[in-house]
Amino acid sequence: MSEELVGEDQMGADLVDAEPDAGCELVIVSLYPRDMNIYGDRGNVLALARRARAHGFAPRVVEVNPGDPWPERVDIVLGGGGQDSGQGRVAADLQGRGTEIRALAEDGTPMLVICGLYQLFGHRFITYTGEELTGIGVLDVETRGGDTRMIGNVVAQSADFGEVIGYENHSGDTVLGPGSAPLARIVQGAGNNPRDGVEGARTGNVIGSYLHGSLLPKNPAISDFLIGEAARRRYGSFEPGAVADATAERARSAAKRRPR
Ligand code: GLN
Repeated sequence: MSEELVGEDQMGADLVDAEPDAGCELVIVSLYPRDMNIYGDRGNVLALARRARAHGFAPRVVEVNPGDPWPERVDIVLGGGGQDSGQGRVAADLQGRGTEIRALAEDGTPMLVICGLYQLFGHRFITYTGEELTGIGVLDVETRGGDTRMIGNVVAQSADFGEVIGYENHSGDTVLGPGSAPLARIVQGAGNNPRDGVEGARTGNVIGSYLHGSLLPKNPAISDFLIGEAARRRYGSFEPGAVADATAERARSAAKRRPR
């Protein structure tokens, strides 16, 4: 795949349908794009589909909004953030899909959920006004809405993905239980809460993170993890394509230079 096809500046193209005979199909579920898509989180879907193509796969994005059918075949699940009100609109629908999503997670399906859906993939989110939204418990985390808003650029160090770079904006304060490991250690910013010095959570192949920006265009190591795990699960192996990361590198260093 030629390198000019993988830059973020190429991401405006319609990536929803797989090109005919473009390689092995990967079905990417975009969860609640109508209600949970804030600070450019849709960029994760575009970047992941673009990257999957660069590795020789044929991505097919299936958008699942409340009430929509769940696709028979799922290779990767992506979900974004949203206001508390958006979380309220999707919480009951998500509960209805909890058994299915937990089974996929236990089977090794890679997933990335950001901010609002990160919170709802945990056990529960208690909003600032005291309303309790029950989560689906894929991640061993619990969140409470607080007085402090955590806003700004974040740099965090991950053993698996190197330096993770993004932008946070949340008042939810998230605490991890023993069933989830932090995604990364905070270098700059808050992450899960102002106390623990960690950002995000991971259980198996499911990653939760507070980072928007969008996250994946600036963190191709996470895209490659999601694609690699999906490919291994579906096709038994993953042979990465030669993908140029020059544009991502420029975005990473520009984001890192921004003040908090
Ligand atoms: N409503 C949540 C919070 O503020 C999620 C925000 C978001 O998704 N950006 O914690």
